Amino acid sequence: MKLKKQLLSLKPYQPGKSIDEVKKQYNLKEIIKLASNENPFGSSSNVLKAMQSVDKPFSLYPDGYATSLRESLADFLQVEQEQLIFGNGSDEIIQIISRALLDANSNTVMATPTFPQYKHNAIIENAEIREVPLKNGEHDLDKMLQSIDEQTNIVWICSPNNPTGTYINEQQLIRFLDQVPSNVIVVLDEAYFEYVIAPDYYDSIKLVDRYKNLIVLRTFSKIYGLAGFRLGYGVGNQEIILGIEPAREPFNVNSLALVAGEAAILDQEFVQNCRQSNKESLNLFYQFCHENDLHYYPSQGNFILIDFNIDGDEVFQYLLERGFIVRSGKALGFPTSVRISMGLEDQNEALLKLLKEFLVQREESLSKTYI
Ligand SMILES: *Cc1c(COP(=O)(O)O)cnc(C)c1O
Repeated sequence: MKLKKQLLSLKPYQPGKSIDEVKKQYNLKEIIKLASNENPFGSSSNVLKAMQSVDKPFSLYPDGYATSLRESLADFLQVEQEQLIFGNGSDEIIQIISRALLDANSNTVMATPTFPQYKHNAIIENAEIREVPLKNGEHDLDKMLQSIDEQTNIVWICSPNNPTGTYINEQQLIRFLDQVPSNVIVVLDEAYFEYVIAPDYYDSIKLVDRYKNLIVLRTFSKIYGLAGFRLGYGVGNQEIILGIEPAREPFNVNSLALVAGEAAILDQEFVQNCRQSNKESLNLFYQFCHENDLHYYPSQGNFILIDFNIDGDEVFQYLLERGFIVRSGKALGFPTSVRISMGLEDQNEALLKLLKEFLVQREESLSKTYI
């Protein structure tokens, strides 16, 4: 086998232990997964209704142009239909853009730590990767600008950033976009856009008109609660979208996802309720962090990164054995933190109670060691 050399450095995605495995191993009745920023409220009841009325035979390929979803979404976002590209999750759009723009003679600029798929795809395309460390958990846009040169084809911006939850404000973003050369594509990943409550967040869809090199990515996996369907989209200038389209597989979005996405957009009340509840959940976690003197980043997403000042795997393991799956920061570039997705109210409370117990136990064992 003559595998591309760069694949040797990549590990296949490692899914966490399955809920059933964890239940069996620790003899638990219930497991609550707060590890992948999924929506604890599920999805709009519109989606289930729409699923029940699907009448197209499954033997047919889906509509490769996503005509109906495209019309609805263009209308909802107030953009032209030709400004949209759909993917099997926004992950696939990251792949399409990378495939279309990166090769061994190019480089790509991104923050670190950030969403790992930008780097992953750049490695596969054999492009040079320029990672710019976050500054206080935020994108260092000045350093990112300085990293751009003649060979730069894509700059990735994740706002709100996964795993920190930090965002870029309007003024910072515009200052940045004004300085990026117009032949460099800026991909603005807004997977958590619908959760944002910061008043100085920008209107990225408007910016797409002003900056012809900007592509905005959004997804139905997070607030819309449709991660299992795999549906995401990109919004950009018609010329860029047309340019990258040939790198998209013809039937990349399946028939059910097309229906689910369209039904989900129509229920903005569901989205609003989820945003409101997320804000309340985050406040509960902030309060906990203040009371226990733990560092965290204020989050515009549906998750929080908390620094426990010890190996994140230890906190992860403690919670796992008690029925909660979270993400250890170790694999995310924050070895002493854990990332926790916001759950339902009683789930959050139960989790915080366990964390409190964990902190008390640790305090006790520390004081014993020193006596
Ligand atoms: C979850 C997530 C995605 C992936 O979303 P899919 O549409 O499910 O592929 C993309 N970017 C970021 C930052 C995410 O957190």
